[in-house]
Amino acid sequence: MKTTAYAIGDTLEMLCSACDLEQNHTVQAVTKQGKITKASCEACETVSTFTRGVKTSVNMGTGKNASPYDRARKYRKGQAMTHEKFGRGEVTAVIEPQKIDVLFGDTTRRLIHSQE
Ligand SMILES: [Zn+2]
Repeated sequence: MKTTAYAIGDTLEMLCSACDLEQNHTVQAVTKQGKITKASCEACETVSTFTRGVKTSVNMGTGKNASPYDRARKYRKGQAMTHEKFGRGEVTAVIEPQKIDVLFGDTTRRLIHSQE
């Protein structure tokens, strides 16, 4: 498998969790293998850290764009997400303005959302 090696100071487009958009990021730190461990968003200067390499918008499965679960975000039915404990999930119902049911595998979990 071919992987791209990055160097500090390189710029690349990736998803900024603060902007919630693909933004140019400047590489701040890399591993010996050239994997990005830290990069800052050029738009909002938020520094993202990557313990397992670069986050990409390529997902397995349905091809829906699944962003990491963020309780501040407002979810709609059918939206996909990734949860650090539960893995990939999909919103099956909005229960209350700030509660959602999310199906992870074959387990539905109630999560909060829209917490400003
Ligand atoms: Zn940003």
